This record gives sequence, structure tokens and C-alpha cells, in this order.
Amino acid sequence: MSALPYAEVTEDSYAERAAADFTLTEVGPGTAELKGPCPRCGTVIHVPVVAGTYKSFRLTRGARRSAPPPGERLEPVICTCADDHPGRPADKVGCGAFWLLRISTS
Ligand SMILES: [Zn+2]
Ligand SMILES: [Zn+2]
Repeated sequence: MSALPYAEVTEDSYAERAAADFTLTEVGPGTAELKGPCPRCGTVIHVPVVAGTYKSFRLTRGARRSAPPPGERLEPVICTCADDHPGRPADKVGCGAFWLLRISTS
């Protein structure tokens, strides 16, 4: 199995799969942590989410690029795995995949 090359890419399926696979855990007031497998390289990543004064979070499906309705926000997620992906710039982490997760904060 050859290593996946680094590439800064996004696909609609990334957001769909992440919405299905990721979990959101509250770690403190206004702070939560996204955890789940990167839809591109499959490595489980942890992404802190800070939402100011919001009290609770939950993931909602269907992360479209349109403006979110009140009570929801779009959280950009970038893969932060520590795997070896050939071609990755020295100042970057992950495989390059990025996507938007829709998070309900009410
Ligand atoms: Zn990845
Ligand atoms: Zn990776």
C-alpha cells in the first residue's frame, strides 16, 4: 500500500462522510472537540472547536456552502493527521483534505 500524496483538496463527500462519522464532545464551556476519521486518508483526527458563548453543540448533516441558518455555524476542518504524505510542505500537517462541518450551537 503506497502512501497517499499530500493534496489540498475538498469534495462534497468529505463533508457528508465527516458529518456521519465525526463526534462532537464538549470539553468545556463554549469549547468542543471534533473527533473522527479523515474522509480522505482515514486517520482519526482531533479538531478543537471554539464557539464563544454557545452552550451546546451537535453535528448536523448536509454541510452546504450556503450561509447557515441561525443557531448553526460552518466549521472549517482541515486534516491534521501525523501520517507521512509525500509532497507535504514542511510547515503543514495532515493529508491536505479540508471540508466544512455544519454544527448546531443551540
Ligand atoms: Zn487526511
Ligand atoms: Zn493522513
